[in-house]
Amino acid sequence: MSWFKRSKKSLKATAPKKNMPDGLWQKCQYCGEILYIKELEKALWVCSKCGYHFMIGTDQYIEILCDSGTFEETHTGIRSVDPLEFKDVKKYSDRLKQSMSKTGREDAVITGFAKLSGRDVVIAIMDFSFMGGSMGSVVGEKIARAMNDATKYRRPLIIVSRSGGARMQESILSLMQMAKTAAMLAKMSEERIPYISVLTNPTTGGVTASYGSLGDVIIAEPRALIGFAGPRVIKQTIGQELPDGFQRSEFLLEHGMIDMICPRDGLRDRIGDLLEFFCVAVAATPSEADKNEGESSAVS
Ligand SMILES: [Zn+2]
Repeated sequence: MSWFKRSKKSLKATAPKKNMPDGLWQKCQYCGEILYIKELEKALWVCSKCGYHFMIGTDQYIEILCDSGTFEETHTGIRSVDPLEFKDVKKYSDRLKQSMSKTGREDAVITGFAKLSGRDVVIAIMDFSFMGGSMGSVVGEKIARAMNDATKYRRPLIIVSRSGGARMQESILSLMQMAKTAAMLAKMSEERIPYISVLTNPTTGGVTASYGSLGDVIIAEPRALIGFAGPRVIKQTIGQELPDGFQRSEFLLEHGMIDMICPRDGLRDRIGDLLEFFCVAVAATPSEADKNEGESSAVS
């Protein structure tokens, strides 16, 4: 019986192997579309098919948000001293060293002065590639110092968050950063310094529970995961199915947890417009310091 015998080579064997050089194409994690990296870069790492926002680095956010060449980094040289000498499967000090050499950063945030749409601002951008953007004492301290700069120089503050939450290797010291940064923001609010919080995918845990959610305006990138505990933990705890889109930007906007969703390519203009609005309002209102001066001059 020869009728079923394959006389030609199978398709699999004859089809030329597709040559897909590394670093040219990227698959969208959301819709599966294969995207040309050069096009993806031009589109600020947003999928042209479904609008999925890929995670990008801190340097890319500087480029996207700050006027060209205006970013000046501040508060460098602050490193965690690992006061608890914490060790899980690895020593915390080793994890820090590894993250430092991988990212070239000292911790999971950079802060600086910059201009945005021509206006002087203070900006802090978290780095997810450094230990999952976790907030330890260095992140908290640098964020607090950036808040102090904003207050001192009366410049609006912008923080771009993405974080897995508090850094467990620093235990209570990490949790204290929530209170520290929240207290600084209360002071900024008294001084009427605008603070815009930009939440990107993912922002969770202690960052969401402190400065992430305390912006005068809270902006989120589309479809970003934003929450305190992760959906799986919540599902297990309450023993119920969670609604579709739970903890995504769109869900949070619908439930009043954030003020607006803005795609990456519109972020700079949107923040610029908001600052225009706030700074005109702030300029028209005397600060606490001005009021005190006014009172003392009235007395003298
Ligand atoms: Zn896509």
